[in-house]
Amino acid sequence: MTIAKPITLGVLALQGAFREHINYFNSVIQQNEEKYSNYSIAVIAVRTKEDLEKCDSLVIPGGESSSMSYIAERTNLLPHLYDFVSNESKSIWGTCAGLIFLAKEIENAVDNQTCLGGLDIQVSRNAFGRQVDSFEQKLDFSGFIPGCHNFPTVFIRAPVVTKILTNGEGLASAPNKVVRSKNSYVNKAPVEVLYQLQNYDGKENQLIVAVRQGRTLGTSFHPELSDDNRFHQWFIDEFVL
Ligand code: GLN
Repeated sequence: MTIAKPITLGVLALQGAFREHINYFNSVIQQNEEKYSNYSIAVIAVRTKEDLEKCDSLVIPGGESSSMSYIAERTNLLPHLYDFVSNESKSIWGTCAGLIFLAKEIENAVDNQTCLGGLDIQVSRNAFGRQVDSFEQKLDFSGFIPGCHNFPTVFIRAPVVTKILTNGEGLASAPNKVVRSKNSYVNKAPVEVLYQLQNYDGKENQLIVAVRQGRTLGTSFHPELSDDNRFHQWFIDEFVL
């Protein structure tokens, strides 16, 4: 008999839609009992340094990135999160506010907001404009998730990736209101664009809404609010195991 390998998948539970992520991961694990029989996967809510120390993988949910950053600072979790995102043996996924919190630079940041610097990108908060609070769209993710043609995506006051920062490129020419992470870590893996929205809103544009850098994933939308757990299954298969 082989002994199941223990894996801990944490969901940052400072604020936002963390329960939804936990439920989606648990449903994937239940549906794949046989496939994952060599692993014993525990999904936990992360609020403290002790919780974080248990994790092989961390998911940062949607919510409000400035609140997450304030709470992480106030509870002294911030330096431990810096260490976690700088550790290439860990896998990480940020959705919406989680993507913003994971980035190296934030455009349209709120006063005193910070970010973790785990993805070498600049994101723009609330990039779809005030009038477009939220929208849903079926997208074809089969280019990176096999067979995933019609995935229902939910965008809520969503960010867009506005720049890929090669070699951790700095703030020199950035306009005002751009905040840069105090974490100087540079991931050696290249940033790969996984998905761009084409000609959104009838305008000629290509908006980057999903990226990957090594074992770190970021999405502008919320697969945890989509009634479809295929994205969570892919994260476990591709990043966690
Ligand atoms: N606009 C929010 C922020 O800045 C993100 C919204 C979301 O996670 N749905 O954090």
